[in-house]
Amino acid sequence: MASNIRLFVEADLQPGLDLEIKAGQLHYLRNVMRLSPGAQVALFNGRDGEFSAEIVDSSKRSMTVKLLEQNRPQMDEPDIWLIFAPIKKSRIDMIAEKATELGVAKLATVITDHTNIERVKIDRLRANAIEAAEQCHRLTVPEITGPLTLPELLDNWDASRRLLVMDETAGEKGGVSMSALRTSDGGQPCDAILIGPEGGFSPSELDLLGNLPFVTKVTLGGRILRAETAALAALALWQELVGQSTIAEINT
Ligand code: SAM
Repeated sequence: MASNIRLFVEADLQPGLDLEIKAGQLHYLRNVMRLSPGAQVALFNGRDGEFSAEIVDSSKRSMTVKLLEQNRPQMDEPDIWLIFAPIKKSRIDMIAEKATELGVAKLATVITDHTNIERVKIDRLRANAIEAAEQCHRLTVPEITGPLTLPELLDNWDASRRLLVMDETAGEKGGVSMSALRTSDGGQPCDAILIGPEGGFSPSELDLLGNLPFVTKVTLGGRILRAETAALAALALWQELVGQSTIAEINT
């Protein structure tokens, strides 16, 4: 049985390899989890699947683990991105953590007319995402990119990816519900969910977005949700109704 103590590492993984565990991960294994030589952990790097590894040497300054065998083959998450306007620190950390648990492949931030937070600490969001990926048994960590303005994002958009704009005004204006988005050919869609800031999208932004061929405006119902609630609700609905990633696939 693979260890429940999972660490994300950057190194390539193959049986028999010795890897040095350093800094924060060394402290976590040695001082928090109080592991000593002979104990096993699970390692993943987002490319080679998950490997079990045995601690073979441990000191205050370093720890060496030997890779044993691959427990799980590499499996990527469905191709869904979450693009959101930065919000207050604690809540943006929560989005990074929960969106990772909900299987997002990429997290991107966008500056819109009503966005009132411009600085985004990418390293901090990545640390939250790594911890969430370790905890929820994902085999990947979402890519995290820094803020673009909405025009910059749209100017460089790959039109083969649907942009699902979460629009609280779309209910009365022809917006669709998430369930209407399931692809009929059964293929794995590649989508992006766009969430506005606390002040919502400006009317000119909604007009601009509404005229783009790759945009679909989506309603999440009649209530006005907070940005982080809308982000997580949209992701959960997408995974269940559109992403077609079944529980069976996830547990292989
Ligand atoms: N403009 C809203 C107002 O007047 O109170 C506030 C925007 S809401 C706090 C932040 C974002 O969450 C919106 O821009 C939208 O992307 C999303 N959102 C909130 N409720 C939604 C709903 N019912 N349907 C779709 N998206 C929603």
